[in-house]
Amino acid sequence: MTEIGHFIDGARVAGTSGRQADVFNPATGQVSARLSLASEAELQKAVDAAKAAQPKWAATNPQRRARVFIRFVELLNAHMDELAELLSAEHGKTVEDSKGDIIRGLEVCEFVIGIPHLIKGEFTEGAGPGIDMYSMRQPVGIGAGITPFNFPAMIPMWMFAPAIACGNAFILKPSERDPSVPMRLAELMMEAGLPKGILQVVNGDASAVEAILKHPDIGAVSFVGSTPIAAHVYAEATRHGKRAHTFGGAKNHMIIMPDADLDQAANALIGAGYGSAGERCMAISVAVPVGEKTADALVEKLIPKIEALKIGPYTDSAADYGPVVTKASQQKILGLIDKGVEEGAKLVVDGRGFKMQGYEDGFFVGSCLFDHVTPDMEIYRQEIFGPVLSVVRAKTYEDALDLPTRHEYGNGVAIFTRDGDAARDFAARVPVGMIGINVPIPTPLAYHSFGGWKRSSFGDLNQHGPDSIKFWTRTKTVTSRWPSGIKEGAEFSMPVMR
Ligand code: NAD
Repeated sequence: MTEIGHFIDGARVAGTSGRQADVFNPATGQVSARLSLASEAELQKAVDAAKAAQPKWAATNPQRRARVFIRFVELLNAHMDELAELLSAEHGKTVEDSKGDIIRGLEVCEFVIGIPHLIKGEFTEGAGPGIDMYSMRQPVGIGAGITPFNFPAMIPMWMFAPAIACGNAFILKPSERDPSVPMRLAELMMEAGLPKGILQVVNGDASAVEAILKHPDIGAVSFVGSTPIAAHVYAEATRHGKRAHTFGGAKNHMIIMPDADLDQAANALIGAGYGSAGERCMAISVAVPVGEKTADALVEKLIPKIEALKIGPYTDSAADYGPVVTKASQQKILGLIDKGVEEGAKLVVDGRGFKMQGYEDGFFVGSCLFDHVTPDMEIYRQEIFGPVLSVVRAKTYEDALDLPTRHEYGNGVAIFTRDGDAARDFAARVPVGMIGINVPIPTPLAYHSFGGWKRSSFGDLNQHGPDSIKFWTRTKTVTSRWPSGIKEGAEFSMPVMR
């Protein structure tokens, strides 16, 4: 049995807390590794190593810091197959999908190769007589990141790439479901030339998170996961005086206007609803056709496509999606499907009886489609995080717009239409952070920032892109005056420039 410990001060170390958790292969349902869960003392070791290493790293010029990422990107490409296999074996998603997970993180590493330019401050010459003013961005010091199971490569890289490029040391607490890729990423960063102590992985559960949140030497906390934990982490981190931004759950709608290309819309819904078994925070889980005619035609197109989806283990390269991550997730999803039936939604594709031949103990869930879902139903209000799509029929465009407007979550949303006016109006009015116009999963690229609205995110600054440079640095502004600009005598009134 593989034992997974932590990555502290440049090397893998065994866990010493005596507490462990099982890591599963979701396709077989078998335990594949035992993961050590960190104690406060183990977190302290990581903080000690970070404190020792960070000042020198911050003083390393930004071009040299960027070069570590140039080499790291090369290593990620060289190890792509190995990393994708490792990821799929613990997450369950297909190998191609795992490559997408890695590549989306790699792109953030490419973005931070521009750190010498990104971190430049501002300068005003002659702000007053003999006075110059400049601002600079300095690292926060030690940052921490707490990440979810669904993107075990991309989300750690969203966080550690800008944090480290900005001159911080970083402590990553990955999901306990799929910790192997984060551990490999730390090893590859060392191979790329990162000094020890700058990136560390402390594996653990809620108690490791609590230790991070109250640690006085950790200055900034980034979190991605479910909304209740995101709200808790934001409150606790800020209560302890830390900078924090935390990202939570989602219920992403796709509005289908009567003029939309319905084949395109149906294909988009299939990919965005069932890809990765629906375990994406940007998955589309609600389709909102406008008008009965659009709804009937869309559902008619969706049914055969959903019935034809191929479910399989990650080793099957023809599979469209794999199992969900744990037995508990599988049970929760199946429970919510039953609830939807009880509440009166029409289950037009019923995947509840699905069994994967040869993988009977795997955590598979068959594809489901609900029609005639209404906003009061549990399956509409909750994030299901499984291969289940709900159709909510809207009479008019305004009724359709009202749905994502009123929903608790505001992560992503899409509209499919040929009408530029409608698309423009929708993008301007819908209170959601990321909008797709004929794009079902509008995940911004690395050089823009990622984040939702409402209870999908807490705090001001988003992930990656320009916001990440602001999040991982503090601004310092210097005002200087040289003797030629200094008047004789003391000045007692508030200095103003006139
Ligand atoms: P989760 O909230 O269960 O876990 C996330 C992290 O929090 C893990 O590292 C976990 O160890 C830790 N954690 C769990 N319980 C905790 C507790 N009581 N106290 C402190 N820490 C705790 O989320 P998950 O199941 O791993 O991931 C799925 C969720 O993440 C979904 O809700 C999904 O929408 C969301 N997500 C959001 C985004 C986004 O950018 N908004 C991106 C990806 C995933």
